[in-house]
Amino acid sequence: MIQNANIKSSFDLKLIRDQFPILHQEVNGKDLVYFDNAATTQKPKRVIEALNKYYEVDNANIHRGAHALADRSTRYFEHTRASICQFINSPSEDQIIFTKGTTDGINLVAATFGRANIKKGDSIIISHMEHHSNIVPWQMLCEATGATLKVIKVTASGELDMNSFDELLDKSVKLVSIVHASNALGTINPVEEIIQKAHQIGAKVLLDGAQSASHLLVDVHALDCDFYVCSAHKLYGPTGVGFLYGKRELLEEMPPYQGGGEMIKEVDFAGTTYNTIPFKFEAGTPNIGDVIAFNEAIQFINELGKDAIMSHENELLAYATEGMESIPGVRLIGTAAKKVSVLSFLIEGMHPFDVGMMLDARGIAVRTGHHCTQPLMKLFNIEGTVRASFAVYNTKNEIDTLLEGVAKLAKMKQSV
Ligand code: PMP
Repeated sequence: MIQNANIKSSFDLKLIRDQFPILHQEVNGKDLVYFDNAATTQKPKRVIEALNKYYEVDNANIHRGAHALADRSTRYFEHTRASICQFINSPSEDQIIFTKGTTDGINLVAATFGRANIKKGDSIIISHMEHHSNIVPWQMLCEATGATLKVIKVTASGELDMNSFDELLDKSVKLVSIVHASNALGTINPVEEIIQKAHQIGAKVLLDGAQSASHLLVDVHALDCDFYVCSAHKLYGPTGVGFLYGKRELLEEMPPYQGGGEMIKEVDFAGTTYNTIPFKFEAGTPNIGDVIAFNEAIQFINELGKDAIMSHENELLAYATEGMESIPGVRLIGTAAKKVSVLSFLIEGMHPFDVGMMLDARGIAVRTGHHCTQPLMKLFNIEGTVRASFAVYNTKNEIDTLLEGVAKLAKMKQSV
C-alpha cells in the first residue's frame, strides 16, 4: 500500500503538527488524538489567518465593485477558483462552481442536469455504499420524474460488485453517481472503469469526491468524469464551502439552479437572460471569506505534495489495520484491497457509541454510528461502526494510543 517511501524523509511531522493549533490540547486530561478526519479535518494556522485577514483587511462584496477592497476581495476569491482548477486539473477555471459543499453540489446537479435530462423510463445508478447525500437527492429526482434508482451491490469486503454494475448498465441509464472513496469503509472505487463503461452507453458520471480530494491524486480531465463534487472542510479548509466541477458542454446546457443576483446577464420583466458559467450557478453573495481561506488549504496540500501525504496516510492505515487485526474481539468493517485512511471496526459485544465514549475518556476522538450510510449498515446487518480516520498530521504514536485503548476495552468485554 505504501506508494513512495522515499518521499517520507522530507516529511517533518512535528513541523506539520505545529501548524495546527487545535491539536495541542488536552481532552479529559489526556493529549488529544484526533481521528475524526473523515467527518472534518482540522485547519492549519494559515487557513485561520487568511479568514481573519479577510475580515480585518479586505472585506467587501465581490465582482462589479469600483473600489479597492472590492477589487482585492474579487481577486482573492477568483485565485481560489484558479487553484482548484489546477488542483484537480480542470481544463478551465470557469468549469469550477463554488457551492456550500458536496451535498450542495450533488443537489445542484440533480436539480439542473437531472430535471433537464432525466425523465420517466430513465434510470440512475448509485451504489449500496453511498453517503445519504448521494442517495436522497436522486430519490427525490426519481419521485418527481418517475425515473428509477438502481443500486450496485457491495461485497462482504466492502467493494463494489462490478458484475452487478454491468448488469444494471443498460440504455435506460442516464447518470451514474458514485462515491470515489467511501467515508464509512475507506474503499477506493474503480471509477476509471465505471466512467469508461458508463460512457459507452451514453450515461454521464458524477463522482462524490468528499473523501478522495484530500487523499488521492484527482485529475478530472484524465478520469473523464462529467461532474466531480467536494467539500473544503474535508481537505483542511473551512466549512460551508465546496465546489462542483463539470464538463463545459454540460454546464453550459444545464438550466440555472437558483435565481438571483450574479447569475443574470440582464433582468427585464419581459424576460431574463442568464450569465455565463460559472456565475450562472452562483446566485447571491457567496461565502467569500471561506472561499478565500480555502486557497490556503490547497496551498498547504500542494506544498506537502499529494504523493507524500498519500505515502504517510497509507503507512498509518497499514500500521493501524495490522494492530487492530491482532486484537481478539475486534472486527474490521471494510477490508477492500484499495483504501483511503479510514478504519471502521467493532468490538464484539459493545455498542459503537459506548466504545466512542470510552475512547473519548482517553482523549481519542473517533466517530461512531452509521456515518450517513444507513443502507450500507443494514447490508452489513449492523447499527453502525466505530471509525478512526487518519490525516496528514496523525502519528504512529497516536495509533498506539488507540490500539491500547481498544485492546483494553476488548479485553474488559471478554472477561465480563
Ligand atoms: N459524501 C461523502 C462520501 C462524505 O464523506 C460526505 C461527508 N461526510 C458527504 C458526501 C457530504 O459532505 P458535506 O456534508 O460536506 O456536504
